[in-house]
Amino acid sequence: MPAPAAWLRSTWSTDPYSFGAISYLPAGTDPQQRAALAEPVDDRLFFAGEALDDTRPGTVLGAVDSGRSAALALIMAATGQERVAVIGAGASGVVAGRLLADAGHDVTIFEARDRSGGRILSRTADEWPIPAQLGAWLISAEQLAALKGRLTALGEQQLAFETTTGWSQDGATDAPSGEAIAQAVEHAKELPADVPLSEALEQDGADPSDPALAAALAWLAATTAADPQKASSWYPPTPPEDGLAGMAEDLGEFFDEHLQDLEITLASPVVRVAYDDSGVSLRLGTGEALSFDRVVVTAPLGVLQQQGIEFAPALPFSHRGAIAALASGFIETVWMRFDEPFWEADEAVWHVVGGDGAIRTWINLHPATGEPVLVGIVGGPQAEQFAGLSDHDAQVAARASLALFAPASADES
Ligand SMILES: Cc1cc2nc3c(=O)[nH]c(=O)nc-3n(C[C@H](O)[C@H](O)[C@H](O)COP(=O)(O)OP(=O)(O)OC[C@H]3O[C@@H](n4cnc5c(N)ncnc54)[C@H](O)[C@@H]3O)c2cc1C
Repeated sequence: MPAPAAWLRSTWSTDPYSFGAISYLPAGTDPQQRAALAEPVDDRLFFAGEALDDTRPGTVLGAVDSGRSAALALIMAATGQERVAVIGAGASGVVAGRLLADAGHDVTIFEARDRSGGRILSRTADEWPIPAQLGAWLISAEQLAALKGRLTALGEQQLAFETTTGWSQDGATDAPSGEAIAQAVEHAKELPADVPLSEALEQDGADPSDPALAAALAWLAATTAADPQKASSWYPPTPPEDGLAGMAEDLGEFFDEHLQDLEITLASPVVRVAYDDSGVSLRLGTGEALSFDRVVVTAPLGVLQQQGIEFAPALPFSHRGAIAALASGFIETVWMRFDEPFWEADEAVWHVVGGDGAIRTWINLHPATGEPVLVGIVGGPQAEQFAGLSDHDAQVAARASLALFAPASADES
């Protein structure tokens, strides 16, 4: 396998300001938990983020809609012009901050990282034909249309990924179909209790060692972060619809545009939120304390689960229950640029069928850009393991995952 001329990787699983990629419902929970977390607390704390949206959780669109809902609820509760803090400058926090400022409130956004965007992260450099997207960037035509209705500047340039193939030791094969999963989910509705997806599949007679099923589950995990051994079969994760495209612009510019004239404090993690009838006090990592009338909290579910922010008094039981009940799943991405294409597959989306490669979903940017760039996506527990590897070992694992695509005569290096 040739060594890449350039490469980048994400580590969302271990990042203390995300601790995961996307929320999902484990067996035994239901979407009410998302709604419970979205309930305002004493009309002082308003929660938002992808995990709280029950229509399109785990997506940029869901995060945006959740930010809008929280901002509108706060506007209804406010009496006159108020001082409002927003914790987090991801899609949800930026949209909430913008709406609140436009409604006349005095808004300050506190962002732990030294950049805005949260789980959307574009890296621009000469070696990449489009900005390397280490977080969200894949979107269906339907979701893009909905997003553009809310945020005109997002997703102006896209690459369409219209062709897909499976690839096994013997070369091209059928792309995995989600049929077995859909059928097991349908039959799981008849069961007396919710069971994890993997159990629903087994009860339905599916063979867990079938390479095609493993490839279908790898795609599900790569796009939804859900662990099939834990995810609910009654409220299953849903992979993106057909007509998948990749956002091909610097998404950071979109955030900059939305943040114009908003007060934002970067590199300022909020470590404590104290609230009572009269207002909210935030303590930053620096020890500084600041007072506000109300706050919108958009810190990811993973951060809330790891108690990255202390609440005083403790959150209501229903909120703590929801935080514990929902799951934060994992996705990691690698971008690899090669000197020249070494692969035979012409399709845009590749699914590895069989073998034990760490990364089983690849996007081939060569057809769309003419440049030899491959993007690997791994989800679920495999993503968490991958995030734990050193850079050297992660690159070795990523290259090994591509071995099937190289002709047998390709040089070893
Ligand atoms: C690898 C990956 C791939 C994805 N792929 C897609 C995709 O293709 N399509 C899609 O629609 N969605 C995708 N998603 C999901 C999408 O990125 C999220 O749903 C969305 O961006 C979440 O926005 P948010 O505002 O809810 O949270 P975030 O973007 O996480 O924003 C929360 C912000 O809070 C900040 N923060 C955390 N703790 C603190 C603190 N204590 N104090 C202050 N600030 C804090 C964080 O730094 C962050 O900026 C993907 C996610 C990942 C990780």
